[in-house]
Amino acid sequence: MPTLTSYDAINRSPLGDVPLTEPLQMQAVVLRAKKAQKYWSALPLEVRQQKVVQAYERLISVEDQLALLISKEMGKDHRRAKYEVAGTIQNVKYFTQEIAQALTSESIGHETKMQYRPLGVVAVISPWNYPLAMANNLLLPALIAGNSVVLKPSEETPLVADLFIKTLNQLLPENVLQVVHGDAETGKALVNADINMVAFTGSLGAGKHIMASAASGLKRLVMELGGNDPLIVMASADIDKAVQFAVASSFENTGQMCTSTERIYVDERIADEFEHKVVAFASRYQAGAWDEGNVNIGPIVNPKQHAKVLSQLKDAHAKGAAFLLGSHHYELPFIQPTVVTGITPDMLLEQDETFGPIVAISRFNVLSEAIDRANASPYGLGAVVFGGSDANNVAEQMEAGMVAINQGAGGPGPWVGAKQSGFGFHGTAAGHRQFSQLRIISK
Ligand code: NAD
Repeated sequence: MPTLTSYDAINRSPLGDVPLTEPLQMQAVVLRAKKAQKYWSALPLEVRQQKVVQAYERLISVEDQLALLISKEMGKDHRRAKYEVAGTIQNVKYFTQEIAQALTSESIGHETKMQYRPLGVVAVISPWNYPLAMANNLLLPALIAGNSVVLKPSEETPLVADLFIKTLNQLLPENVLQVVHGDAETGKALVNADINMVAFTGSLGAGKHIMASAASGLKRLVMELGGNDPLIVMASADIDKAVQFAVASSFENTGQMCTSTERIYVDERIADEFEHKVVAFASRYQAGAWDEGNVNIGPIVNPKQHAKVLSQLKDAHAKGAAFLLGSHHYELPFIQPTVVTGITPDMLLEQDETFGPIVAISRFNVLSEAIDRANASPYGLGAVVFGGSDANNVAEQMEAGMVAINQGAGGPGPWVGAKQSGFGFHGTAAGHRQFSQLRIISK
């Protein structure tokens, strides 16, 4: 049987194998999902909710194993890996209740009912950077809505996904939730199969391809794509708070987070102090293996992504950016905390998503120019403004789905991208309902 091998993010040694789902097998997978969906959708909403909660309780027995696999497969520091697993397990009751409430039929007047009906088979395709949470965010509302789900996790983190799904399947009815393993080819075969919806989290390029493939069957879509989030630091900002946020947000998850800060525009009047303090704060970070002490930046997930980050740093160096901390030379698999200033619009660091632990700074004299540069990206996921009361007006001008003032973007509301960062969203009643078909029955 063909297999997919998972590798340790630090030393690239094999960690284990999972069965590879070849494109020709996809039809059989989807047929099983269709049959299971009939049974599953016939259960009352509360029964589905109860069964899902019970299945998630089983995850407690593999909590440590899941956290260990996250750290090994994608290198996340172990405290954060544990947090990701614990959050997934602990929040399930709250979220399933919220989802069930959002999907409860509503009346319009005396005679008309609005119902939230399942769509059928939902393909969930997920990335590696939060290998458990990203899959979970999409499959939970899809399942509670009465769909069956086929999960295609990232080829970088198949062992996490395999253990997650196998454990849930100890209690879920057969084939309501299946996992298929493989790279983009397996994902493409799933998108092209006879499914009803694709819920995708991943890169813009893959998202565009999926959207084009889904068009022929008008398959429903939720697309959570990449970001190139700007941070504007105004002269009125609390500098120390802005510095702490700028560094922590640029380095979170080794910079491998869709809403990590990618570009910073700081007012020239406070720029010297800001940069000086950023370097001091960033110097406290250290890259290394997740099982070493005192390490808060992990490896870059794979050699290809490492090369991409390095190429952006080299491009910035060649075009005149100044390295205040770190350099543009790093050995695999780490990128040490790096602070670069003098970023200009022609640099790749400004134009593209980096996904590495880089603080990339530009100075501005005219606020409207900083706003224009912040908005010049095709992405529009998050945007942050640090400043006094004058920050409100700047925030109103940001072209992003999630805008925040003096804090990180993406609060308790829906997780939503604007422009080419997203299409559809999840979270809150409006998000939960995107995994179902609205039906009106009038008498
Ligand atoms: P990726 O697009 O390379 O892969 C994501 C998944 O899609 C993987 O399972 C992959 O095998 C599959 N895939 C790739 N091409 C496909 C295709 N043409 N058809 C079907 N499936 C395909 O992304 P990645 O490197 O795993 O993740 C990083 C990206 O995800 C970054 O751009 C990041 O910003 C984004 N992301 C976004 C969010 C969000 O909420 N908006 C959250 C996390 C990550």
